[in-house]
Amino acid sequence: MKHRIVILGAGYAGATAAGRLAKRLHRDDVEITLVNADPDFVERVRLHQLAAGQDLPVRSLRKMFAGTGVEVRIAWVDSVDADRKTVELIGEQGAETLAYDTLVYALGSTVADFGAPGVVEHAHQVASKQAALRLRERLNQLRADETVLIVGGGLTSIEIATEIAEARPDLKVAVAARGGVGDWLDEKAQSHLRGAFERFGITVHEQADVTRVAEDGVATRSGAKILAQMTVWTAGFDVHPIAAASTLTVSATGRIVVDATQRSVSHPDVYAIGDAAHAAGVGGKTLRMGCATASPMAWLGADAIAARLAGREVPNAPIGYNSQCISLGRRDAILQKVTKEDQPTSKVDVGRKAARMKELICSIAAWCVRHPTLLAPSRRRRVETGAAASVETV
Ligand SMILES: Cc1cc2nc3c(=O)[nH]c(=O)nc-3n(C[C@H](O)[C@H](O)[C@H](O)COP(=O)(O)OP(=O)(O)OC[C@H]3O[C@@H](n4cnc5c(N)ncnc54)[C@H](O)[C@@H]3O)c2cc1C
Repeated sequence: MKHRIVILGAGYAGATAAGRLAKRLHRDDVEITLVNADPDFVERVRLHQLAAGQDLPVRSLRKMFAGTGVEVRIAWVDSVDADRKTVELIGEQGAETLAYDTLVYALGSTVADFGAPGVVEHAHQVASKQAALRLRERLNQLRADETVLIVGGGLTSIEIATEIAEARPDLKVAVAARGGVGDWLDEKAQSHLRGAFERFGITVHEQADVTRVAEDGVATRSGAKILAQMTVWTAGFDVHPIAAASTLTVSATGRIVVDATQRSVSHPDVYAIGDAAHAAGVGGKTLRMGCATASPMAWLGADAIAARLAGREVPNAPIGYNSQCISLGRRDAILQKVTKEDQPTSKVDVGRKAARMKELICSIAAWCVRHPTLLAPSRRRRVETGAAASVETV
């Protein structure tokens, strides 16, 4: 009987891992199933572009994986039973149970509302394609001089604020952040960011801890009200509750706790990668959610699975960072070099050169997913007899 590998989620992490496993393992030995709710690959790092009115290419997962040996199943993952080794799906044929020998959990993340009242009812967000399209529709309804308020001071907030300001110079764009906006960046990057916001006419409300969203704006902890015709919530990301509802060991925020090979610390036949995984990187620091984390996690996890099944040495090099690249509309960006531990350094590129780099990075990330079996060196291993059993008991 073939070893059944089931991968949940076909974002940057899941799709990359599926392709790499197909390249690493022999088709006669393994059955690889990739489950995803959306029939297309969603370039999540470009959702602010989609929200601001740009069209993104549609990439069918079934076409991407045709001929690779990976079976794509379009279905909603409802629950995981990590003890019985089954997954409950709601798919094209209705509800079904999928059994696995090895599970790769890569369901990504969604927006975090931190329990603030009114976020779900009144705020827009860009964490999923559907949400970005709703945001785009509302944006189209806004008239000149109406205000869009972005809540959050991080990377997503900066990218969506500048993208909207560039696409709709007739609107008033404002950002409200609990602390500062982009305040973790090096001074040169912060100074460039301030200049870009000034150029776009973006108003910044710093030290504004938003506690409630209403139809006509937001309220802050200090009792102030910021009026806006539309609010976009980008205050953070949260994981789907599926892992926390299982017996898998999860962090306080519901991410699956994994070891240096992306393997669950409680269930050795489960691997978690991407935003859904809680892992330590270089220096022991918890890796942040990001595309920059998802791809190396996918390579590491897939290689570890393949190595264990083939009875070979398991790779476990810790993941480190290189840069943070933030778009400021289509013609400007900040390329902030960071240490492997993700600490900003004084090396910063800005302007058109950085914008071209950002575009290149996004394109390469999508290219790697679109050509899932091209990048991994072709060293297809045979699964060792009894490997499935050893995966269960190690
Ligand atoms: C606007 C925006 C800009 C960003 N910019 C950057 C950036 O510049 N740099 C960076 O490093 N990161 C960036 N990120 C973060 C980055 O997109 C994520 O960290 C990355 O997508 C995580 O990859 P993943 O594979 O773990 O999850 P995802 O890419 O979210 O993929 C998860 C997949 O699982 C599917 N799924 C989820 N739940 C279910 C379910 N119950 N059933 C079936 N399928 C399901 C989803 O449809 C999706 O296909 C950005 C995010 C956003 C929203």
